[in-house]
Amino acid sequence: MTADEFREFGHAAVEWVARYWERLPDLPVTATAGPGETAARLPAGPPGTGDRLDGVFTDLDDLVVPGTTHWQHPGHFAYFPANTSGPSVLGDLISAGLGTQGMMWATGPACTEVETVMLDWLADLLDLPAQFRGGKGVIQDSASSATLIAVLAALHRASGGTWRTEGVRPMAVYTSSQGHSSIEKAARVAGLGDRAVRVVEVDPQTLAMRPDKLREAIAKDLADGVTPALVVATVGTTSTTAIDPLPEVGAICRDLGVWLHVDAAFAGAAAVCPELRWIHDGLEFADSYCFDPHKWLLTGFDCDALWVADPAGLTSALSVLPEYLSNAATSSGAVIDYRDWQIPLGRRFRALKLWFVMRWYGVEGLRQHIRDGVALAERFAAAVTADDRFELVAPHPFALVCFRLKDGDDRNETLLRTINATGRCLLTHTKVAGRYVLRLAIGAPATRAGHIDATWALIRATADELTGTRQV
Ligand SMILES: *Cc1c(COP(=O)(O)O)cnc(C)c1O
Repeated sequence: MTADEFREFGHAAVEWVARYWERLPDLPVTATAGPGETAARLPAGPPGTGDRLDGVFTDLDDLVVPGTTHWQHPGHFAYFPANTSGPSVLGDLISAGLGTQGMMWATGPACTEVETVMLDWLADLLDLPAQFRGGKGVIQDSASSATLIAVLAALHRASGGTWRTEGVRPMAVYTSSQGHSSIEKAARVAGLGDRAVRVVEVDPQTLAMRPDKLREAIAKDLADGVTPALVVATVGTTSTTAIDPLPEVGAICRDLGVWLHVDAAFAGAAAVCPELRWIHDGLEFADSYCFDPHKWLLTGFDCDALWVADPAGLTSALSVLPEYLSNAATSSGAVIDYRDWQIPLGRRFRALKLWFVMRWYGVEGLRQHIRDGVALAERFAAAVTADDRFELVAPHPFALVCFRLKDGDDRNETLLRTINATGRCLLTHTKVAGRYVLRLAIGAPATRAGHIDATWALIRATADELTGTRQV
């Protein structure tokens, strides 16, 4: 493809994306293609001679769009948002065009240094505590990887570095019953196994970790000769956005010398707003912290921001330097080699999309995005509260509302299935105290008050039918 051909197809590709965004509201949120349908419509193999992308945009319309669940749709309220935005896509385009391999400073000086500065900007934007300021941040592909990195760094510290050569001795990892599944996965990958994971009880009202139960669990392990390596506290759990009490949990970790990782994958973005920074009270106790700009901060997947208080500890845990990678800049000690801050060697120039996003929206624009989401959640929650057939089942400090019909699980399941089948919205569910609960997660950039009202109207009308009642 020549530069001129790239120009021509590139313009058409940008046009295709712009048009896709414009017609999103008219598409059903959920993929219409069933299992195997998309695969069956693809040719059996690649063309023998290149087809020069002939008809590729028609193929995208006919084959990819029907097989896509539209995360950027204004009616997408499933799981958590996975934001993208114009500036993010353009930053990614430039990154792809540069094709930089930023594994070390020497292989990508700008890739490395822009990332360091963007993470400092972000730390400033969230007003993170002092231990995370000044070159302590790195982009990971996901919060799951950030958890794995925290586990490995914690094992390193708790073992005095011996795990590298000797392997892992009995160690324990603590999280609440509401902690993310990536914690168990990280324990498996690190060779600790499920049996190393202690699931700490939560307060039944707030669904937040109980510090007294954490202290008990750690004391038991110490008595049994098991080393407590790491506590993962969550700010904004995946199920209901519950917030673990960082000041109490942090004080326990500091007393006992246990690594504290704070997972704020979805909710951390809220701290761009000063009025929501209370969610990080106690973060000064943390050894590592992460949140996902790719969830609620207008930056496309993949972009998890991870900070560590002691980068030297992390790189000492992960660094392996073969001869073919040795270079003068690395030896000088004056540069960051991000390959030692992550699992893979190679890395893309992901900081570009963050730079583009922060430049385009500015601090005020990012705050507006968060505030809009919080206000829409409040609007929906108020409607739920006003209908006495429904109840809210958890606090909604962010943009997730958990609610249910005051009725059996079957009724609630049917309600969810029925509204989703319309294709006008997509919600998911969770269980709270054993009961089936609907989750409405707001945050797609295209969602406006009208979409929230229409979704509530649909839910109400469906409830009328299911319950044979009508709320006046
Ligand atoms: C979404 C989520 C994760 C996983 O995020 P990825 O970036 O997709 O790995 C981890 N923890 C919490 C609390 C989450 O909500």
